[in-house]
Amino acid sequence: MAMIENQLHRIMRKTGRKPSQCKCKLCQEQCHQPCLGTPQDIERLIDAGFADRLAATQWVAGMIMGCCPGPVTMVQARQEENGWCTFFKDGLCELHDKGLKPTEGRLSHHSIRADNWSPKKSISWHVAKEWIMPENKGAITRVWAKMIDRLLQP
Ligand code: SF4
Repeated sequence: MAMIENQLHRIMRKTGRKPSQCKCKLCQEQCHQPCLGTPQDIERLIDAGFADRLAATQWVAGMIMGCCPGPVTMVQARQEENGWCTFFKDGLCELHDKGLKPTEGRLSHHSIRADNWSPKKSISWHVAKEWIMPENKGAITRVWAKMIDRLLQP
C-alpha cells in the first residue's frame, strides 16, 4: 500500500530542505517574524493550550513574490510588542523541545534567506499554500472553530 505523504514531507520534497537545528545569531534573527506553520501545526499548538498566543493573519508575501493573486488567510504565532515571536525565549524557541515547532521554523536555516524569495523553493510559500489546499479543508475548519471557541470562552 502506498504511504500517504504528510505535509512536512511534501514541503521537504518541494523545497529540498531538511529539518535543521542551528542556533546561531542569524537563525535567531529569523525569530523576529514568527515562522509559518501548516494548519496541522497550528491545530497541534491549539490542542497543546497555546491558542492565546496565536492570531489570525493575512500572509501577503506571496503577492509580492507573484505566487498568488491575494493574501492567504491563516492562523499563526503572534509577534509580541518587543518585536519577537511569542515563542522566542532567552534566545531559544520554546516549542523546539516540545516537538511543536512550526514547519517553516523546522526547515529554516540562516543560509536560505535568498531562496525564500524564489517561489519554487520558498519554504514560506510552500507552508502558506497548505492553507489553501482543498485536502486541508478539515484541519483549516477545525483551526478556525477552535480559535472562535477560545474567543467565546468566558
Ligand atoms: S515558533 Fe520558534 S522557531 Fe518559529 S519564529 Fe517562533 S521562536 Fe522562532
